[in-house]
Amino acid sequence: MKIDGNHAEIRAAWASDPGPVMQMFINGEWVDSSSGARFPCFDPYAEQAWGSVPEATAEDVDAAVRAAHDAFDGPWRSTSPAARFALLRKLGQLIEENAELLACTQVRENGKGYAEMRGGVNSLASDCHFFGAMAETHHGYTVQPSLPHFTAYTRREPMGVIAAITPWNTPLGLLGWKLFPALAAGNTIVIKPSEVTPISTLILGQLMDRAGFPKGVVNIVTGAGPVGQALVAHRLVDKIAFTGSTGTGAAIGKIAAERHARVSLELGGKSPNIVFDDADLDAALRGIVAGIFAASGQSCNAGSRVLVQKGVFDEVVRGLVDKAAGMRFGDPLDPATEIGPLASKAQLAKVTSYFEVATQEGMKPATGGMCPNRPGLFVAPTVFASPPLTSRLVREEIFGPVVMVIPFEDEADAVRIANDTPYGLASGVWTRDLARAHRMIEKIRAGVVWVNTYRMGSHAMPFGGYKASGIGREMGIDALDQYTEVKSVWINTAGPADGGAS
Ligand code: NDP
Repeated sequence: MKIDGNHAEIRAAWASDPGPVMQMFINGEWVDSSSGARFPCFDPYAEQAWGSVPEATAEDVDAAVRAAHDAFDGPWRSTSPAARFALLRKLGQLIEENAELLACTQVRENGKGYAEMRGGVNSLASDCHFFGAMAETHHGYTVQPSLPHFTAYTRREPMGVIAAITPWNTPLGLLGWKLFPALAAGNTIVIKPSEVTPISTLILGQLMDRAGFPKGVVNIVTGAGPVGQALVAHRLVDKIAFTGSTGTGAAIGKIAAERHARVSLELGGKSPNIVFDDADLDAALRGIVAGIFAASGQSCNAGSRVLVQKGVFDEVVRGLVDKAAGMRFGDPLDPATEIGPLASKAQLAKVTSYFEVATQEGMKPATGGMCPNRPGLFVAPTVFASPPLTSRLVREEIFGPVVMVIPFEDEADAVRIANDTPYGLASGVWTRDLARAHRMIEKIRAGVVWVNTYRMGSHAMPFGGYKASGIGREMGIDALDQYTEVKSVWINTAGPADGGAS
């Protein structure tokens, strides 16, 4: 697959390129499924099948987990943090050298815009370097117990075999959030990417192979939900790190709880993006558009409920409808494209089913609410103004370019509506009043509050949800804690003069 060049050349090359025939990575070997079964990838812009990957069997999953288990019990267990840092540094360099390939492959898999995917690969490399360095700096602590003659300290130790189950919307970014801290902390891993986006993960696996990770430390199995289920149920998996839907996350949490496996879950959202009447409305409008229409709304942190103070409500709705109606559809590889296709036919069906729900509930969109008459899995940017707060469109995660704009009276009203959701992933506040911003930060029940910005992220800042949006945090110094157990060590330092050991 040749991917250097401009977007039109790449697209033309893809038209006659059947895509790669990939293998899975188990115990340091590139292998087919033990059943021989394969399935293709699908390009949602060209609406064409391309490439293929193996459909793993339960035996393949077992082989991958056992390889990871043996690697953890073998020399990897005693690998120094410096050696792990060196491997991750090498991997980070390989990611940088292969950034175009990784970005364009993800675009072809899920139809997300090139600029976002290319920026995402830059972040992937820097996340890799960040967690590599943390291998050497993550630490326990010493305490002075109140009892005399004891030295006490804590150690952070790896958990064992990690199962990373990842979604299709940001295949490599959300994998890196699990993979890098897991390896930095000294764990081994079995990865199961979404069936929609497996090829980019297998290419990253090739880079890991080149970086020189010992056999069994990293394993990749491909397939659909049942492959993930077999992985979650495997008794040798010590922790499951999952990003995806709240329903699947709950099912995974239940199975994990039965055998006391650890879990971290990064799930859905219905995030409020709150505009006060003193805000810079131009900036707020840009933030609203980026918050919901970037990636065609297929982001867990999408600002899908826009709350607007009554005095500026009509003006914001007008501005948003204008911007939404004028967005340019097109090839996600083309930097001029403002709205690309949805990732899959299943996602298109899910998003458009909400338009039928809206009709049944007696709601009409201010703009959008349909699929444009053109090839590709496109949905028009859609705005509903003043929907009833009981509407399913207000309460459920749609994961598409669909925004609910809701009026509010004052701060207390904004807080009440913002928190009236089972979710608690992200939120935005637009105001020029610093004291008000701080009051809102304190009262919003969500894992992230952005003030006068939206969708910012960094490897140094934790990300994760309150309530049904998940368990645990990814990124930042909190992330390594999620891949380690704490061991408390007590040493009796009493000598003969103190009465000896007790
Ligand atoms: P899922 O939660 O079903 O899938 C996420 C990952 O879990 C995929 O790798 C999937 O495999 C795997 N999986 C599915 N079922 C199981 C299971 N029982 N045990 C273990 N692993 C499993 O999400 P979907 O892709 O079906 O998307 C549905 C909805 O989820 C979206 O419309 C959106 O609302 C939400 N979503 C949220 C995301 C987020 O970032 N929080 C990301 C993606 C989706 P496979 O895909 O191969 O079946």
